Amino acid sequence: MDIRLRPNEIHPGIYLFTSFKTLMVNSTVVDCGDEVIVVDTLLRKDEATQVADFIRETLQKSVSWIINTHWHKDHLYGNQAYPGVPTIAHENYIHSAEAQKILMGHRMPYQHPKLTFSERMRLTIGTRHMELHGAPGHSPDGLVVYLPEEKVMFTGDTVIGNGSRRIGLPYVHEGNWGRLEATLEWLLTFNIERIAPGHAKPGDKSLIQQRLDYTQRLRRFVQEAPLANMTKADLIALPLTEFTHDGSEAMMPNLHHINLEKMWAELHNNTP
Ligand SMILES: [Zn+2]
Repeated sequence: MDIRLRPNEIHPGIYLFTSFKTLMVNSTVVDCGDEVIVVDTLLRKDEATQVADFIRETLQKSVSWIINTHWHKDHLYGNQAYPGVPTIAHENYIHSAEAQKILMGHRMPYQHPKLTFSERMRLTIGTRHMELHGAPGHSPDGLVVYLPEEKVMFTGDTVIGNGSRRIGLPYVHEGNWGRLEATLEWLLTFNIERIAPGHAKPGDKSLIQQRLDYTQRLRRFVQEAPLANMTKADLIALPLTEFTHDGSEAMMPNLHHINLEKMWAELHNNTP
C-alpha cells in the first residue's frame, strides 16, 4: 500500500512534499493566487502524481510553470505528472553527455525548458515575486529560487537539509567544490528565514552555514595534507567527526569518502 505524501506548509501557501521512496527528495508547490508553480517534481511518477492530485483536488488550481533546480533525475522525472506544463531551468541544464543521456533517456519524454537564464531572472507569477539565481557547485546548472517578500529560498541540492541518514553532507556531481563554496558564501548574504532544500527537512539560514563549514573543513584538510605528510588514505581513515559536528551525518561515511577523493583531485591534480 502506498503511503500518501503529506503537504508541509512551510510558509503560508508554500507546500513542501518529501518522498518516502527516494532519498527524501523534495517537491515544493507555491500557491501564486490563481495559479501555482512547482519547484522540482521528485523521481517517481507515482509520488509526483500525488502532488499533482493535491494541486488539483485540494488547491483546485492549475500549474503554470515547473522550475527544475538542476538536471538530476530525482528532481525532474516527476515532470511526467504534469503533461504540457512548461519548464524553467538554467541554461547549462543540458550541458554534458551524461545530462543528455539522463534527460533524453527512455524514462520520460524530453521536453526542452521553455525559459532559461544564465545569472539571474526575475519573475512575477500571480501574487508572488521571485528571483532565480544561477548557483553552480553541486552541478553546473544549479539554480536557487528566492522569494524576497516571504524570505524563503528553494535551494535544490546546493543546500541539503538535515534529518536523513543517507544524505545531508554537500556533495558535487559533475560539479566543483570551489564553485560550491563560493555559492554557499554568497547565499549567506540573502535575507532568508526558511529554506526548502532539495532533500530532507526544511530549515533556516543556519543550514547554509553548516554546509559551508563542512566544505571549508574538507578543503583545509586536503590542502594541508601534503604539509603534514598525510596521504589521501590517511585522510580517509580520519573519522567524519573531524569534518562535521552534526552527529546525524556520521551515518554516511561513503559519501564523505567520495567527497574527499573529489576534493583531492581538485586540489592535487589526481596525485595520490
Ligand atoms: Zn538530488
